[in-house]
Amino acid sequence: MSPITHFFMGWAVANAVPSLSKRDRAFVTWASVVPDIDGLGIIAEKLTQNSRHPLYWWSNYHHVLGHNLGFALLFSIIAAIFVNQKIKATLLVFLSFHLHLLADLVGARGPDGDQWPIPYLLPFSNRLQLTWSGQWALNAWPNEAVTAVLIGITVWLAWRRGFSPLEMFSTKADAVFVTALRNRFPMKPA
Ligand SMILES: [Zn+2]
Repeated sequence: MSPITHFFMGWAVANAVPSLSKRDRAFVTWASVVPDIDGLGIIAEKLTQNSRHPLYWWSNYHHVLGHNLGFALLFSIIAAIFVNQKIKATLLVFLSFHLHLLADLVGARGPDGDQWPIPYLLPFSNRLQLTWSGQWALNAWPNEAVTAVLIGITVWLAWRRGFSPLEMFSTKADAVFVTALRNRFPMKPA
């Protein structure tokens, strides 16, 4: 799925435990996006495609380097150092990361109809290549439907809890968003 979908999925996971701090929520959210860091090779690949020595960093490493257990453990360990709620937040980081892999497994067929197997046990073993025959394409409608539902959840959470993913970029923008939302849909007095 696209990084946008992964982002909102991570945000939903981050809100599963209400007591998480702002920092913990950020780690859990980004854990759901970070596997796609291995897709950044596309920049080098595009830049060198007409050169004498083209680099195939995207073709060779996307869905490989970041999409495996080793990277999940590495990212979880880094997160564990910085999060406030060591156990809860770290477990959610690990879970959020795996939700990314699962989402890719069900809905990330390549543009050329190519399946992208997930070498889950890397770097420990190359034996396991996860695929699902029912996998739909990256730009198929279910992904758009899932994204729409996740954005709906995000807006509802913002209205209800008083913060949105904007908090990661600007506290002010977040407050403006929540205020606008609550003015438009006033909360019933309890
Ligand atoms: Zn991915």
